[in-house]
Parts: sequence; structure tokens; C-alpha cells
Amino acid sequence: MANQLQPVRGTRDLTGEDATRHFHVVETARRVARLYGFSEWQTPIFEDTRVFSRTLGETSDVVTKEMYTFEDRGGDSITLRPEGTAGVCRALITGGLTQTLPQKVFYAGPMFRYERPQKGRYRQFHQIGVELLGPASPLADAEVISAGWRILNELGIAQDVELHINTLGDAQSRANYRDALVAYFSAHTAQLSEDSKLRLEKNPLRILDSKDEGDKALVENAPLIYAHLTEEAAAFYEGLKSTLSAFGVPFVEDPRIVRGLDYYNHTAFEFVTNALGAQGTVMAGGRYDGLVEQMGGPNVPGIGWGAGIERLSMLIAAPPVGVQPVAVIPMSAAFEGQALELLNLLRNSNIAAETGYSGNAKKRLERANKSGAGFAVLVGAEIKLKNLADGSQEDVTADMLVKRLSA
Ligand code: ATP
Ligand code: MG
Repeated sequence: MANQLQPVRGTRDLTGEDATRHFHVVETARRVARLYGFSEWQTPIFEDTRVFSRTLGETSDVVTKEMYTFEDRGGDSITLRPEGTAGVCRALITGGLTQTLPQKVFYAGPMFRYERPQKGRYRQFHQIGVELLGPASPLADAEVISAGWRILNELGIAQDVELHINTLGDAQSRANYRDALVAYFSAHTAQLSEDSKLRLEKNPLRILDSKDEGDKALVENAPLIYAHLTEEAAAFYEGLKSTLSAFGVPFVEDPRIVRGLDYYNHTAFEFVTNALGAQGTVMAGGRYDGLVEQMGGPNVPGIGWGAGIERLSMLIAAPPVGVQPVAVIPMSAAFEGQALELLNLLRNSNIAAETGYSGNAKKRLERANKSGAGFAVLVGAEIKLKNLADGSQEDVTADMLVKRLSA
């Protein structure tokens, strides 16, 4: 069928087990987020392009190569969101919510990036994420990271991931560090990739994040930020580490984590795994104290993370298939009406129930067995409740039926 319509490259359908895994991740994260005091928000999946171009940084991969940007029929430049933080901050400002801090936000939904599709990398992918807006203390950072860690635990994949943390310092630390990096990389420009030559001028820190093999070799010996931290920034980082330990969250320090986006300061972190080949980062985030102000709002510090649901879905064990609906089966056409009444009664009593749409009683019972239903209700001159696991059955009244199946 040559002319059969196909999904757009880099997109995928969520059906069957893919859907079960996906929603298990979302529901688990939503439950844990609530436990940590986060409330769920939903912002539009498209925004004024400037929401992203002004915040993600002109030199970021996302802005230069990956955004889905188009002009709509009214001539406005629109972008499908590539990440969640900018939209949440935009909503915080437009909603006047900067007056009621802290705001603890959880979100889940699709993101869009024009990338080369491969395992664990799609053009429409999905993220869960949290943002904690308001507090500027490392307690907030530790809490946000701890919530992420708890989610990975509840998903049963904590043993497959490792938390890597780093600090990017404050503005002064970064300026100091930037000078040191410029001095180092300027002495090796010949070995730098074309992209990184540009980064050297615009944002040398970015080179540390490069995926180019030549760049990576140079980065091996690049100076580290620790020697360039101000006293205050060093104290913040110490506070983060001690609070993480108090929360019982294991971590390793990794000076190479700089985050791909421009607005981060102080804390940067990633949960990484070896179980997914090249696509090793499952959850990534950091502190972004300048972002809300940069977007035209007041000075509101923030910390958050985003995690790819597709990558989490690949790591988890298949979630258990839930109990299937009770099968309500008329023994002959004469009992169809009574069967529908019982079907209705069960559903109104909060008991999941189905009835075959066609076929005789034998066929329907076969289908019920196959579906994995625990019980069938056989509706004839008597009503019988049949346990499909052991084959036993008993005569019941409608009232008894509801009681038995509610138990
Ligand atoms: P990568 O280095 O893998 O490109 P990134 O730095 O672009 O990641 P972030 O912008 O930090 O990723 O996004 C957070 C998380 O979202 C990632 O750790 C990953 O799990 C997921 N993610 C990012 N891009 C994609 C994609 N194209 N397809 C699927 N998941 C993605
Ligand atoms: Mg990327």
C-alpha cells in the first residue's frame, strides 16, 4: 500500500504496552510530585518564538538547529515548545504569580525538537518536569533533586542511574572561569570544531558540553571551575551537597556538567544511565536565577529538572496489566435486556464491566477468558457469578453481585 499515510519522521504512536509504560511514568511522577508539594500546571505547547529565543540563548543547539518555528496565518512567529521551563516562567509572569512565592510546579507533556531521530531521540518527545520558583537556598535545589530521585526509585530504576552534580557558580565565578577557559581554548583553536570556535567567542562554557570527539579530547584537560568559585558560590555548593546527604540522595561530582542552556547558575545536575547506549541522560536540570528577570519579570530565582518520558519508559519493567473488566454475559437473546441492566448497575457501582457486543454465550465466555477478566456474570433464569481463575461459580442476586465484586 504505497499511498498509506505514515506518522511524521521522529514521531510515534502510543498504543498497547508503549502507552501503558508512558502513563505509568507520568502517573508515578505526578503522585511523587504531589508528595513533595508540587502542583500540576499545563502551559500551551506553542508560544511566541521569543519565549525561547530570548531565554535559551542564541548559541544553544536548541535555538540554532532544533526549534520547530513557523509563521502562523496572522504573520506571528510561533515555536512548538522544545522544553518546559521557559513556558512555566512565562506563565508565572503573565499570571502575576510572582506575587505568591514559592510556586512549586509539576508538568508533563510533549516537547518538539528537529533532531536526527534514533533510539531514545525523537522529534516529538515527552517530558515530565518540576520547577521550584522563589527560594534561593540550596535546600530548594536538594528538594527538587530529591523529588527526582524518589520518582526514579518508585519507577524501580534507581539502581540503573547515577546522579551527577556540579556547580556553575554565580556571575562573578563564571566570569573568572570564562577567562580561564578562553585562555585555554584560545591556545588550541586549531583543534576546535567549527561550532566550538563560535562558542569560544560567544559562550566558551558551552564547549565543555560539545559532543564533537576532537572537542571532547581538549575538554579532558580544560581547567575546572572549582578554583574560580567565589566564597559565596562555594558555600552554596557545599550547602547543596550536605542537604543531599541529609535527604539520603547519593551523588557523584562531575565537573563536566554545564547544561545546554544559557540561563543556568549554581547547581547543574543529571541522572545518567549506561543502559541506553548513547542517549544516557534521563533527567537533567539546574538553577536558573536570572531567567524570570530576563523574560521581563521581577527577580525570581528558580530551580528545576526535566526528564524524557521515552527514555524512562525504556528503562522500567513492563507495568503489571491491571484487572480486566468483569464480563456480563446473557445466556440467550431473551436475557440481553437484563444483562444490560446489570452492566449498568456494576458501572454505576464503580465496578469495571464489559459485555461482548455479539456472539453466543459460549463465544463471549471464551473471549472473557482470553481478555484476562477475573469474573464473568452469567445472566439467565438465575444469575451466576463465575470465577474465571478457578472455574467455580455461585448463584447470586443483583445486590450480592455488587457486594462480591466490590470486595
Ligand atoms: P541530549 O544531550 O540527549 O540531547 P539535552 O541536553 O538536549 O539532551 P535537555 O534539554 O536537558 O536534554 O532535556 C532533558 C531530557 O529530555 C533529556 O535528558 C532527555 O531525557 C530528554 N530529551 C531531550 N531531547 C530528547 C529527544 N529528542 N527525544 C527524547 N528525549 C529527549
Ligand atoms: Mg539535545
